[in-house]
Amino acid sequence: ETTEVVTEVVVLGAGPGGYTAAFRAADLGKKVVLIERYDSLGGVCLNVGCIPSKALLHTAAIIEEAKTLGGMGVTFEPPKIDLDKMRAGKNKVVAKLTGGLAALAKQRKVQVVQGTGRFESPNRIGVDTKDGRTRIQFDHCIIACGSSPMKIPGFPHEDPRVMDSTDALEIADVPGRMLIVGGGIIGLEMASVYSALGTQIDVVELKNQLMPGADLDLVRSLEKIIKKRYNKIMLETKVASMSAGKKGIKVGFEGKHPGEETYDKVLVAVGRLPNGKLIDAETAGVKVDKWGFIKVDAHMRTNVPNIFAIGDVVGGPMLAHKATHEAKVAAEVIAGLPAQFDPLTIPSVAYTDPEVAWMGLTETKAKEDGIAYEKGVFPWAASGRALGIHRDEGMTKLLFDPETKRILGAGIVGPNAGELIGEAVLALEMGADMEDIGLTIHPHPTLNETIGLAAEMAHGSITDLM
Ligand code: FAD
Repeated sequence: ETTEVVTEVVVLGAGPGGYTAAFRAADLGKKVVLIERYDSLGGVCLNVGCIPSKALLHTAAIIEEAKTLGGMGVTFEPPKIDLDKMRAGKNKVVAKLTGGLAALAKQRKVQVVQGTGRFESPNRIGVDTKDGRTRIQFDHCIIACGSSPMKIPGFPHEDPRVMDSTDALEIADVPGRMLIVGGGIIGLEMASVYSALGTQIDVVELKNQLMPGADLDLVRSLEKIIKKRYNKIMLETKVASMSAGKKGIKVGFEGKHPGEETYDKVLVAVGRLPNGKLIDAETAGVKVDKWGFIKVDAHMRTNVPNIFAIGDVVGGPMLAHKATHEAKVAAEVIAGLPAQFDPLTIPSVAYTDPEVAWMGLTETKAKEDGIAYEKGVFPWAASGRALGIHRDEGMTKLLFDPETKRILGAGIVGPNAGELIGEAVLALEMGADMEDIGLTIHPHPTLNETIGLAAEMAHGSITDLM
C-alpha cells in the first residue's frame, strides 16, 4: 500500500542533526516530516554513541576513583559487577532521552515516518515502511543520514567477538583479554570502560601517538595513567591479519610491535564512514563523493538548491554538537532567516580517564603551518583542587596571538576537561585576550581556576599557585 504525503520540509535521519533541524523548522512555522529507519529517535548519539558511552564511562570513572582513596585511609572491596543491571541502567538513560524526543516531535506536530528513505527526485523521497511505502513530496529536504563504523576488509567482522562500538556498548560480557584497534577517541573511551570492569587491554594504533589531532603533551598525561592500567599500547603498529579461531581472535601485528596474539574480543574503532551512498542521492542530483560525503556551503546547502545536508554526512569533525548547530542553520535558511555555519572552532573531547579536551589552534597545527603563538601552561600539580582529588596529572594550556594577545587555542587534560573547555571556546568566540581571562575572577579552589591561571602564566602576572 502506498501513502502519499505532501510537506514543506522533510528531514532524512533523526540523529542529533536531524531532530534538531526538524524541531527548529517546525518552531519556525514549517510543516515537517522526519524520516528514521530505526524505531527510536536520536540517531547514533543517543542510541549507540555519546549518551550510552558516557553512562558507562561514569560508572568506570567511579570504579577507578574508588581506588585512589587508599591514600586517604579508605579502601573498598573490589566491585561486584552485575552486567545485566549495568546494561539496563544504561538503556534506561537512553530510553528516557529518546522517548523525550518522540514527545517533543509530537508536541511540535512533526510527523515521524519510520522506514528507510531514498530519493526518487529532487522533490520526492520514498520510504519503505512496515506497512508498505510512503512517498513524501517536499519543497525542502535536509539530509541528516549520519555515519556508520568503518569495517576493514578481510577482518572477520561477522564473528561476534570482533566488535564495533555499537557491539561494545552492549557489554555482553567482560572479556579476559581485549584488543582495541585504533587509538582514537571512541576506541580509548571503550578501553576505559572495559579496563575498569576488569578486562586486560591492548591498544594498537597506526600513527605515532594516541588520539591523533590532540597535542602530544596532553596525550602524554593520559598515556602515563593508562600505561599503568593497560597491558600494552602499540604505536606505529598495524594489524596485518585477523582470524577467528576456537580459542579466540588471532591477530598478527606488523611495524614497531610485530608479533601475534590471541584475544577473547577485539574492538575495531578505526573511524566512521558517512551514509551518503545509501540514500540514492544521485536521483535527486545531489553530489556524493567516493567516501559517501555530501559537500555543502556555509548555509548547509548541497549542489541542489532545495536540498540541504548536515552532521556526520557532510564531513568535518563527526561530533553531535557540530550536527546540532549545522541543523539550526539549515532550518533557519529554509525559513528565510540570514543564518550561516561559521564557528571559530568546534571543540573536541575524549571522555577517557583522564579526559582530554581541546579547541581552536593546537600547537601541532601551529608548528605545521608556521603560526606564531605565545603559550601559558598551568600544571595541575600546582592546583590545590587537583591535589585534593588526587589528580595532579592534569594540565591546562592556552595559546595566544603574540600581537593581539587574543586566545587562539586551548588544551586541557584531567578529570572534567570536557566541562572546562567550554569557557575557552566562549573566550575564543568573544575574542578574549590574556588579560580578559587572567583578570576574570575564577572561584577558588576549582579546576576551572586553572584556565585563569594559565592566562596569568602567559601574561607573566601570576602571583600565587595553590
Ligand atoms: P546520526 O546520529 O548518525 O543519525 C543519523 C540517523 O539517520 C540514524 O538514526 C540513521 O538510522 C538514520 N538514517 C540513515 N539513513 C537513513 C535512511 N535512508 N532512511 C531513514 N533513516 C536513515 N559525538 C559527540 O559530540 N560527543 C560524544 O561524546 C560522542 N561519543 C560518541 C561515541 C560513540 C561510540 C560513537 C559511535 C559516536 C560518538 N559521537 C560523539 C559522534 C556522534 O554520535 C555523531 O557525530 C552524531 O550522532 C552525528 O549526528 P547525525 O545527526 O549527523 O547522524
